[in-house]
Amino acid sequence: MLRVEKLNAWYGSSHVLQDISLDVNNGEIVCLIGRNGAGKTTTLKSIIGLIDKTAGRVEFEGREVLSKPAHARFGAGLAYVPEERRIVPGLSVRENLRLGLVASPNKKKEAELIDRTATIFPRLAERLDQVAITMSGGEQQMLAIARAMISDPKLIMLDEPSEGIMPVLVDEMFELFRNMKAQGTTILLVEQNVELALSIADRAYVVDQGTVVHHASASELLADAEIQERYCSV
Ligand code: ATP
Repeated sequence: MLRVEKLNAWYGSSHVLQDISLDVNNGEIVCLIGRNGAGKTTTLKSIIGLIDKTAGRVEFEGREVLSKPAHARFGAGLAYVPEERRIVPGLSVRENLRLGLVASPNKKKEAELIDRTATIFPRLAERLDQVAITMSGGEQQMLAIARAMISDPKLIMLDEPSEGIMPVLVDEMFELFRNMKAQGTTILLVEQNVELALSIADRAYVVDQGTVVHHASASELLADAEIQERYCSV
């Protein structure tokens, strides 16, 4: 579904991604793991179109997208939830969800889409009229994910969704990812909580110093203490 070949990215003259190659198949959860600064966020941003200077090839459903602007990639069914949540704090949950539909290619009825999203995110269903800023960090993160999901993306990229969230909500969030997968959404996940990420992922790529140094099934990596120690311990 997503094929990244020899992706390179630069911040000014700093060459931060070097020949990253990875694949995500339809229906999979694929995880990118690695230390802080390894290049995971830059990989996701390059795939969605938020990095100015890139080279290589990114194909989504057989079409080359690296040369396309971010909105065209979104329109093709790619979504991205950044680490910093970027919900609109003064708006209600429902209003924030509506914002996810503004540029959406999905023209189904708004109320129907909000209802459907609320069944996947029950915690939000109870809070549709609550002002977003009054929710906990974890609930706000769920709102950011729900807002990306409302347009029915085929592949959603999530950057550190568990960052700064209390453990009980993290478990709930990962259960949610399993449900999203069961409903047919493909997920590319960046996560510091390696064990938890590998527990729900099908496969994982280990990124170090801007390049992929290892890839394997999630179960193989879970059992590989040496790789985890070498590339993922902080
Ligand atoms: P983290 O978990 O800390 O976000 P990461 O693996 O996602 O780590 P990136 O954020 O992709 O790593 O960073 C890759 C490299 O690019 C790092 O060396 C980082 O310092 C650098 N970098 C990231 N953003 C910028 C920027 N806006 N300008 C210049 N350099 C940047």
